[in-house]
Amino acid sequence: MAEIIDGKIVAAEVVEGVKKSAAALAAHGVKPGLAVVIVGEDPASQVYVANKSRTAKECGFLSVQHTLAAETSEADVVALVEKLNVDPSIHGILVQLPLPAHIDAGKIIQTIAPDKDVDGFHFINVGKLATGEVDTALVPCTPFGSMLLIERKHGKDLSGLSAVVVGRSNIVGKPMAHLLLAANATVTIAHSRTKDLPALCRTADILVAAVGRPEMVKGDWVKPGATVIDVGINRIPAPDKGDGKSRLVGDVEFASAAKVAGAITPVPGGVGPMTIAMLMANTLVSAHRHAGLEYKGL
Ligand code: NAP
Repeated sequence: MAEIIDGKIVAAEVVEGVKKSAAALAAHGVKPGLAVVIVGEDPASQVYVANKSRTAKECGFLSVQHTLAAETSEADVVALVEKLNVDPSIHGILVQLPLPAHIDAGKIIQTIAPDKDVDGFHFINVGKLATGEVDTALVPCTPFGSMLLIERKHGKDLSGLSAVVVGRSNIVGKPMAHLLLAANATVTIAHSRTKDLPALCRTADILVAAVGRPEMVKGDWVKPGATVIDVGINRIPAPDKGDGKSRLVGDVEFASAAKVAGAITPVPGGVGPMTIAMLMANTLVSAHRHAGLEYKGL
């Protein structure tokens, strides 16, 4: 049976480190500030945003939430982001996605000042990550957190290891692949047009699934002893729990994969908790950079 990589524990450690470092920043007269912008009433987004704001407060940050009506115009969202860009009390700006259809999410993301872009989606941060300038970039939280879990298992240098990332989204798959490459892994990115995905996955010492397909990756896709990082969060019906009940599963079939893998992240409780923790870490990094200080925490 594989070692279970407990993301809750690692995330709690990250948050603890952020709290300590935020307290130390106070001696320099700096309080990290995170602004979260949400447009509309999407229930899942409301929960995510509330969790982010609550964790920011726990970390001792200034936590500001802007809740805008679903019919807010694109121009008004741009204007708010521009105001936050020049607000010296704010070091991190996050616009919760998805945005209502009449707002161009790409335009909003590119409006965020790159040095406050704690989601790491601005072209400047994407470019820095892709060119190996990881030290000055802000890195997308989910792959950043996944990478931390991989480091716990393999250390910071992945020389000689092969990694397969299933999924090529801008939010997870591509930045994940860049991080693995920066750590010297030999990286393959797979997607919906990849031929014989199971055989490719079986070559991976590190297998990252970021697909959005419940339990797609089976145990016999996993190389014996491999490290499996399951980014997927899928809600599926669970009639065994009662009428209308559901459960969360990953993109990996946990029961079969855990019999073959050397280490595996569960869903829930694996990558999920890392995302918010890394958002706090990114805000802290940004606050240090704005104050001309170096952050050596991660
Ligand atoms: P996405 O934008 O929908 O991208 C999914 C990727 O998977 C695409 O590149 C797609 O390929 C590929 N794919 C789809 N079906 C496939 C198949 N049958 N075989 C091989 N590849 C296939 O999703 P995402 O935003 O990256 O998210 C992926 C998963 O991670 C979702 O379950 C999401 O809920 C979860 N997630 C979790 C967190 C967290 O905090 N833990 C954060 C973000 C996302 P094509 O490009 O060819 O279409």
